Amino acid sequence: MTRIVLVVGEPAGEGLAGATLEAIGVARRVAGPGGKVVGFVAGPAATARATAFANAGVGTVVPLEEARLENAPPASQAPAVAAAARSVGAGAILLGGTTFGRDLTGALAILWEATAANGATEVTAEEAGLRVRRPIFGGRATEERRLEGPRIVLSVRPHAFPAAEGPAVPLEAVPPPAIDWPAIAFAARRTAPPTAGRASGPGLADAAIVVAGGRGLGSAEKFALVEELAGALGAAVGASRAVTDAGWRPSSIQVGQTGRSVSPQLYIAIGISGAIQHLVGMTSSRVIVAINSDGSAPIFRVADYGLVGDLFALVPALTAEVRRVRGA
Ligand SMILES: Cc1cc2nc3c(=O)[nH]c(=O)nc-3n(C[C@H](O)[C@H](O)[C@H](O)COP(=O)(O)OP(=O)(O)OC[C@H]3O[C@@H](n4cnc5c(N)ncnc54)[C@H](O)[C@@H]3O)c2cc1C
Repeated sequence: MTRIVLVVGEPAGEGLAGATLEAIGVARRVAGPGGKVVGFVAGPAATARATAFANAGVGTVVPLEEARLENAPPASQAPAVAAAARSVGAGAILLGGTTFGRDLTGALAILWEATAANGATEVTAEEAGLRVRRPIFGGRATEERRLEGPRIVLSVRPHAFPAAEGPAVPLEAVPPPAIDWPAIAFAARRTAPPTAGRASGPGLADAAIVVAGGRGLGSAEKFALVEELAGALGAAVGASRAVTDAGWRPSSIQVGQTGRSVSPQLYIAIGISGAIQHLVGMTSSRVIVAINSDGSAPIFRVADYGLVGDLFALVPALTAEVRRVRGA
C-alpha cells in the first residue's frame, strides 16, 4: 500500500460532514510524515466544498462537479472515487462511517478490488497495511483485523476520532480524471432517495447529539416532546423499537440491534427502559442521560446522568431551559 490516502468528502450543508473531518485526522496518521492525504468531493457544489478540505489542512483536492450526483445513492460515486484513487496513486481510501461512507465503502471494495472494513474505532498504520479494531455483533464484541494489500478502503466510526482542525492550507484543485460511468450509476436514485424517512435536522448516524424516546411517551402525539427537545438542541431524533413497532414514528429512526447504531457525544434517552436490544445500539455514546420515572430501569446502569421523574414534567422544562440558555 502506498502512503497516499484519499479521503472521500461527504457533503453537509455548505461544507463537509463532521465524519469526513474525523476521517482526515485518521488519514494523516495513516499517511505518516512521508505520505500525503488527498481529498475527493463530488456533487453539484464540489468546488466550493473543496475549500472545506483546505481549511482542514488538506490542500490537494479532486473536486468533481456532477449535478447528477445530487440526491443519488452514495454508491453511485464509486466509479468516480475509484478513478480518482487510481489517478493520484492512492493506496488507501478513508471515509466517515456514516450511512454515506458505509454504503460507498462496500461499493468501492468491489469496484476498486480492495480489502475493506467499516466502522473502525482504532486504526494503527503498519508496514504491510492497517490494523483496525471495530465493534461487531451490535457492539457486544470487538474485532481486531489486519487490512493488507495494495488497496484498502476503510470507514471510521463517527465520533470515535477527533476532527482534523487545520491549519488551513492553500487549495490546489486537481482536475478529475475521465470517468466511465456505468449505465446504471444513477438509476437507483428514483427508488431510493437518501433522505427517505429521515426526520428533519441532522442525520442519526453522524449527529453529535441524539434525543431518543420510548414507550414512556405514551402516544404518537406526545412523542413530539422528544422532537421539541431535539429541535432546541439541534439534535437528531431516535426511538426505541416500542415506538416504531407502534407506528408512532418510522423505523428509520429506531436505535438498537435491529435499528441503527449511534455513538454521539450526547445521547438522551427519554421514557426508554434500556432493554439490551436498545443498549447495543447506543452504549458507545460518549455521555448518556436517562429520564425515566422508574429509578430501577436498566437504562440507569449505562447512564452517566439520570433524572428519575415524570418525563411529561421534566422534558418540557428541559426544552424551555435549553431555549432560554440558547436565546431561542
Ligand atoms: C430480536 C429483537 C430485536 C430488538 N431490537 C430492538 C431495537 O433495535 N431497538 C429497541 O429499542 N428495541 C429492540 N427490541 C425490543 C426491546 O426488547 C424492548 O422491548 C424495547 O427496547 C422497549 O422499548 P422502550 O424502552 O421504549 O419500552 P419499555 O420497555 O416499555 O419502557 C418504557 C419506559 O418508560 C418509562 N416511563 C413510563 N412512563 C413514564 C413517564 N411518565 N416518565 C418517565 N418515564 C416513564 C418506564 O418506566 C419504562 O422504563 C428488540 C427485541 C427483540 C426480541
